[in-house]
Amino acid sequence: MEKIKVLDKGYVELVDFFGGDKAVAMAARISYMSKSNSIEEDKRLIELLAKLGHESPFEHIVFTFHIKAPIFVARQWMRHRIASINERSGRFTEFEDEFYVPPDERSENSSKVMEESMKNAFETYNLLISRGVKKEVARMVLPLSLYTEWYWTINARSLMNFLNQRADSHAQYEIQRYAVAVARCFQISCPVTYSAFVKNLYKGNLLEI
Ligand SMILES: Cc1cc2nc3c(=O)[nH]c(=O)nc-3n(C[C@H](O)[C@H](O)[C@H](O)COP(=O)(O)OP(=O)(O)OC[C@H]3O[C@@H](n4cnc5c(N)ncnc54)[C@H](O)[C@@H]3O)c2cc1C
Repeated sequence: MEKIKVLDKGYVELVDFFGGDKAVAMAARISYMSKSNSIEEDKRLIELLAKLGHESPFEHIVFTFHIKAPIFVARQWMRHRIASINERSGRFTEFEDEFYVPPDERSENSSKVMEESMKNAFETYNLLISRGVKKEVARMVLPLSLYTEWYWTINARSLMNFLNQRADSHAQYEIQRYAVAVARCFQISCPVTYSAFVKNLYKGNLLEI
C-alpha cells in the first residue's frame, strides 16, 4: 500500500499484513468446528462478534506499519504496549535536519520562532559531531520535534484499542492525524472488520465507515 503522508514530513505505510476478514471468521468458527458457506455469512459473524464484544478472533489479523513521526508523537505511541516495535537508532545513525514545524494556527503564529530554535539545535548537533562527539551524546541537544522512524507490528484487537484512544479529539492533534491514517490502512485491508469495529466498538469521534 502507498505511504499516507502525515503532518509536514511524516507518513504511515502498511508494509505487511496477515490474516484479514476471513481469518477472523475462521478463528471464531473453530469454537463450533463449523465452516463458512459465503462471504455474507462471514460478514454477519464478524458483525456479531463486534456487537457482543467477543474480541479475541480479531487478534488473528496482524499488521506491520512503517511510521515516520516526531519524537513527541513516538513517545505517546509507544505507551501502547501490546505491539512490537523496532526504532531507528540515534547511536548508530546520524540524524537529518528533519523537524516537525507546527503551522501558525497550532503555534499562536510562532512557527518561525520554533523553526529557528530547531535549526540552532541542529547546527549545534552538527558542530558536536564535527568535533568528534559520539552521535549518542550529540543527539542530547536535539528537540522532541525531530522525526524518528519505527516498525510497528500489532494485531487488530490492539489496534482497535489504539484507535479508540488516539483517533479521538481528546488525543493530541498530531497523533490524531497518524491514527486516522492507520485507520485508513485498516479499512482498506479489512473492510468488514473495520466497519464492524466502527459501528460497535469504536469509542472515539473521528472515524467513519
Ligand atoms: C488522551 C490521552 C492522554 C494521556 N495522558 C497520559 C499522561 O499524562 N501520562 C501517562 O503516563 N500516560 C498518558 N496516556 C497514556 C495512557 O495512560 C495509556 O498508557 C496508553 O494510552 C496506552 O493504553 P493501553 O494501556 O490501553 O494500551 P496497551 O499498553 O496497548 O495495553 C492494551 C490493554 O492491555 C492491558 N494491559 C496492558 N498492560 C497491562 C498491565 N501492565 N497490567 C494490566 N493490564 C495491562 C490493558 O487492558 C490495556 O488496555 C494518555 C493517553 C491518552 C489517549
